[in-house]
Amino acid sequence: MIPEDPLLRIAGIVNDSIVDGPGLRLTVFLQGCQLDCPGCHNPQTHDQNKGDLQTVSSVFSLVKANPLLSGVTLSGGEPLLQAKALIPLAKQVKDAGLNLYVYTGYTFEQLLSESNSDVMTLLRYVDVLIDGPFVLAQKSLSLPFRGSRNQRILDVMSSLKERKAIPVSDEAWGYHPD
Ligand code: SF4
Repeated sequence: MIPEDPLLRIAGIVNDSIVDGPGLRLTVFLQGCQLDCPGCHNPQTHDQNKGDLQTVSSVFSLVKANPLLSGVTLSGGEPLLQAKALIPLAKQVKDAGLNLYVYTGYTFEQLLSESNSDVMTLLRYVDVLIDGPFVLAQKSLSLPFRGSRNQRILDVMSSLKERKAIPVSDEAWGYHPD
């Protein structure tokens, strides 16, 4: 059973991000990651005992306070380590009519094969998943919303339905490469 107002372990929150998805976004950086990708740009988020504990309701109050937001992004660290506690936040974000983007160091195929019930429940609220670890050899500064070429921008609803990774079309999120 999921507590009504669970605690999240958070590394930081940016409430006016324009780099973690389209439009103006509130980005929550969850504390804790076990992947240790070489060249990770957020190594301070790895320790699962650090960060600040905040309730879902306190995070959502920041969402409600900003009427200019297009959506919310969950990043990290590895947000899916806290999937269970993120479910009520994801539900409130969607009920508020906002879109929800999630970054994960795991691939969509790994998530499907592990079939963690909390992760699968959380994904039902997610519009877009940016998946896969940061790979230094595939680093690119020109990619919108991601750091390395192996990472994909996935349409979660279609991917869950088809049970395979389906990328978001560039047109769908307003990206027009030169
Ligand atoms: S998954 Fe993200 S936070 Fe975790 S080590 Fe890789 S780049 Fe860093």
